[in-house]
Amino acid sequence: MHIVSDTNQKGLQENQTIANRMNVLMIALTLIMMVIYYAIGAHILVTFSIFIALGYAFNFLLIRNRRMVESTWSTYALLTLYMVVCTICLGYDYGFQLYTMSTIPLIFQLKYISKKFNQRDPKAAGFSIIILLSSLISSLYTVKVGPIYHIGGLPPLIFLGMNICIVCYFLIFFSSNTINQIIDFEIMLGRQANFDALTGLANRYRMQDYLKEIFESQEQSDGQANKFTDSSENIWVAMLDIDFFKKINDKYGHATGDRVLEKLAETLRKVCQDCEVSRWGGEEFLICGKGDPQTLLENLVKKVESVSVQSPHGNIHFTISVGVTHKTPNDTLDTWVTRADKLLYKAKENGKNQVVV
Ligand code: GH3
Ligand code: MG
Ligand code: MG
Repeated sequence: MHIVSDTNQKGLQENQTIANRMNVLMIALTLIMMVIYYAIGAHILVTFSIFIALGYAFNFLLIRNRRMVESTWSTYALLTLYMVVCTICLGYDYGFQLYTMSTIPLIFQLKYISKKFNQRDPKAAGFSIIILLSSLISSLYTVKVGPIYHIGGLPPLIFLGMNICIVCYFLIFFSSNTINQIIDFEIMLGRQANFDALTGLANRYRMQDYLKEIFESQEQSDGQANKFTDSSENIWVAMLDIDFFKKINDKYGHATGDRVLEKLAETLRKVCQDCEVSRWGGEEFLICGKGDPQTLLENLVKKVESVSVQSPHGNIHFTISVGVTHKTPNDTLDTWVTRADKLLYKAKENGKNQVVV
């Protein structure tokens, strides 16, 4: 069974739309070229174009059933067949063999897409060899034997120009499409790796990296000032925990508990604008700032008291306890955060809803 997430679902729909548009474009190009074949008297290619157009029409069914790999295979098979037959009929100087230049990179792009959407491996390397051999054999054949139709003058130039434009269009379109998909995906992964999904705050890993950066930059600074060392004496961390949170969950439900966490994160963002704020885990938050933390954190405790959260049982209020400590020269990341944690428990023991420095 394939599990398709919402993001993948959306991505799959986008790829379906792109595949449908491509298919319409392929049918249109085939029909336009069919008219030109008719005009130059290449009747075999007129009949052949009808079968190719029907093949593309069949692709709509595959795309509708989300069989993206199969529909692309089918497109590439039709394109390769088209390239071979047109080269044999008209000659290698019409530029049909240029299609290999677009189909080979595209089938590797499909490998990326099919991996992302849990679809079959398109066997890009094997398909590339088939496309290359088809192009090579049909071109060499016409060089040796000559094409079926000998048409001089303008048509070869027109076809060469059209084929170069079509191949370049595909290359530009698919390259930009692939790069945009990779960029979007990397942004999404970065967000998931560094931020908490519920509150949108930095997560523990991101905060640890931030704190490690403080230590590293102080070690490397060698007496020179930088964004951390110029006030290294004043850097503090505060560990914050919601009071009686289990009771909130038990009495009002987990969903209301989640809303309390969201509301607290919102308040932290407003009050601690100049600090680095993170959800350290569960209902514990770690804040890192510079200067004097006491006034700021006491204001925060007061502000949280006045925040109300809607629940099915009416508006509820909650309080927080905070332990805060400055960094000392002998601290490691662990001793620093553990000291803040111990002070937090002191705040709990002293009756909660307060800051202990
Ligand atoms: P204290 O005042 O001493 O802090 O007591 P407390 O009840 O708040 O106890 P504690 O800090 O140990 O509470 C942890 C609870 O937080 C237990 C867990 O169910 C709840 N919790 C942790 N993460 C989440 C979450 O994401 N959503 C909700 N709703 N609850 C959570
Ligand atoms: Mg706790
Ligand atoms: Mg608690």
